[in-house]
Amino acid sequence: MPIKKIIIVSGLLLVFIAFYGFGFDQYIELTALKQKSSELIAYYEMNPWQASGWFFLIYVVSSAVSIPGASILTLAGGAIFGFSWGLVLVSFASTLGASLAFLLSRYVLHDWVQNHFSSRLADINAGVKKEGAFYLFGLRLVVVFPFWLVNLLMGLTPIKLKTYFWVSQLGMFPATVLFVNAGTQLATVQQLSDILSPAVAISFALLGLLPFIMKPILAAIARYQSLKGYTKPEQFDYNLIVIGAGAAGLVSSYIAAAVKAKVLLIEKHKMGGDCLNTGCVPSKSLIQSTRFLADIAHSKKYGISKASAEFNFADVMQRAADIITKIEPHDSVERYQQMGVECVQAEARVLSPWEIEVAGKKVTARRLIIATGAKPRVPNIKGLDQVRFYTSDTIWSCRVRPERLLVVGGGPIGCELSQVFNRLGCQVTLIVSAERLLKTEDEDASALLMTQFEAEGIELKLQHSLESFSVEAGESYAHIQAQQGARLTLKFDAVLFAIGRQANTQNMGLEELGVELTATGNISVDQYMRSSVPTVYACGDVAGPYQLTHAAAHYAWYSTVNSLFSDWWHFKADHRVIPRVTFCQPEIASVGLNEQSAKKAGLVTETTLFKLDELDRAIIDGKTTGYIKVLTPVANDKILGVTIVGEHAGELLPEFVLAMKHGLGLNKILATIHAYPTWAEANKYTAGVWKKNHQPRRVLNFLERYHAAKRR
Ligand SMILES: Cc1cc2nc3c(=O)[nH]c(=O)nc-3n(C[C@H](O)[C@H](O)[C@H](O)COP(=O)(O)OP(=O)(O)OC[C@H]3O[C@@H](n4cnc5c(N)ncnc54)[C@H](O)[C@@H]3O)c2cc1C
Repeated sequence: MPIKKIIIVSGLLLVFIAFYGFGFDQYIELTALKQKSSELIAYYEMNPWQASGWFFLIYVVSSAVSIPGASILTLAGGAIFGFSWGLVLVSFASTLGASLAFLLSRYVLHDWVQNHFSSRLADINAGVKKEGAFYLFGLRLVVVFPFWLVNLLMGLTPIKLKTYFWVSQLGMFPATVLFVNAGTQLATVQQLSDILSPAVAISFALLGLLPFIMKPILAAIARYQSLKGYTKPEQFDYNLIVIGAGAAGLVSSYIAAAVKAKVLLIEKHKMGGDCLNTGCVPSKSLIQSTRFLADIAHSKKYGISKASAEFNFADVMQRAADIITKIEPHDSVERYQQMGVECVQAEARVLSPWEIEVAGKKVTARRLIIATGAKPRVPNIKGLDQVRFYTSDTIWSCRVRPERLLVVGGGPIGCELSQVFNRLGCQVTLIVSAERLLKTEDEDASALLMTQFEAEGIELKLQHSLESFSVEAGESYAHIQAQQGARLTLKFDAVLFAIGRQANTQNMGLEELGVELTATGNISVDQYMRSSVPTVYACGDVAGPYQLTHAAAHYAWYSTVNSLFSDWWHFKADHRVIPRVTFCQPEIASVGLNEQSAKKAGLVTETTLFKLDELDRAIIDGKTTGYIKVLTPVANDKILGVTIVGEHAGELLPEFVLAMKHGLGLNKILATIHAYPTWAEANKYTAGVWKKNHQPRRVLNFLERYHAAKRR
């Protein structure tokens, strides 16, 4: 502990010892107050400002250092100064004192507590950040929670001082009124419990708990209000109707059929949705082809003096289409019908909380799941209609290589496709408004990727934004603004937008039904994946928060089980431990916290780093770029998050995902045998670095002396 904090803690201890040692505690008794009250009142009458000042100061200091006696002081306030002036003095003095106690606790203990319990505090910190004022108000009203304890505990949370001050002032006001008023009739008070009788304490407690009780009740009322005006069918055609047959819809309908529910799956376009037809599958097929090209380009590294590859752009693109055809049967109507899912290929429109219209027919179900995915955003830019432009929906049909390709957007899709098309011979310029690529990953991960991109000849235009397009003499031009107002014009053949994806919620009856959307346009769902209309659930890209295939499948389980069995039980969706991988070279795979997000959440963590250039297998394979970075609480092997940059990062990550999901620490990974020479050994070595950093020094010193003695 720093010396300043030690001095403060010692000072506080001395105050306590002196307080009790010199017998000041006898003055915080009711009898003492009664005996001295006439003297105190006389002093106040002669010196009103001085008496008020002293009282205020004593109240503030005693509350700030958490000396007991706030109730007696409050009574004294009423007895000496009368109701109104006493109330003003006590109300402000108690809030000021409480805020100082809160600051003291924050200064002395906050960092230590956050360091040692960061993993367990993450949820509490998030809750306090979101609803801290609400919790504090309840705690203040429930007078049975000791005043000093609330100050001490709240100091350990990230609540803001301003919020703490005004919520405390408001929350403590009712009890202050009660005690100051009792002080005005001091003679009638025989003991403190007369004022705070069990009935009064319970009333305060109920008042304090009221917001907590009312919140879910009001939410439930609001949800059921949304059903008003619709007639519930007497019988339903299905238990469940799922709209959209992408990852989320397929998994939802499969689970429903597996538990013998009657389920209808509706898809307006292609079974398999984005992932199969325009997302993961074609992009990863192209990535595989271009990795082969990149290896050939580095043949010398493998002792092969010259190697070359000839390829036809259209053939590589066609391979991606062929791979889709090969995987299609996994998501086909036939396969799902065999599993017991009824499939319809048409556009669905929601008519009521229980009814939809599809292919000119009205059908009903007890519950609906919306799994309609998302579509790529296209900016509204002047001249766009004159140029050749693509999105992740349309790029796959491209068979003529654009010699100069602009890619707009530095997220995973923009990065993967920039590298792919650059390796396929396009001259790629990547335009990004942020100051780096993959801005949700740590800076060092972005830096490695940007170095690789530049080495491969991708031109990076960071902190640039597209303003307009024009066409002159048959050539397309992009007019771009750089950060400091500078402008540049680039000649190009085609532009690919990867600037985010917008949830598909429009024109399907959701607005009319009153299904609420978030600020980003996703369907707003509660922790059970239920929308604001209680019969309508949502999952996948349309609901978020992650736009990933495995996240869609994960949340589909909660949507389905909750929608079918909510009469009996509800499962809260688990948002922890969701891995993410960007399949560039180097690959970037991460799960949980990274340094950037831990810092943002105010958590103090420890970082363990293992560089892949120390791994035998990486040296053998000639792919030594990258690292494994693990975040843990200070001096604890629990894994809070992992970032892996390098070859096979996505394949190395699951061992950490498993460990995090099941609460296994780095010691367990270290104690697991990993075959030699594998990439997976890197995980064990990372755990080894952590262990080395936490060697039991005293034991080792002792052993050194023991062995020295044995040699004598
Ligand atoms: C280029 C690219 C690469 C990607 N790579 C990866 C990756 O490597 N790993 C990963 O995890 N994720 C990746 N993703 C994201 C992944 O594809 C999505 O997260 C996933 O497909 C979402 O599934 P979903 O079921 O929510 O939506 P979708 O797959 O979009 O399915 C929604 C379906 O609903 C249908 N539909 C919409 N409205 C209606 C209606 N009114 N009636 C009937 N049907 C309707 C649509 O036609 C669509 O088929 C990638 C995405 C892209 C674009």
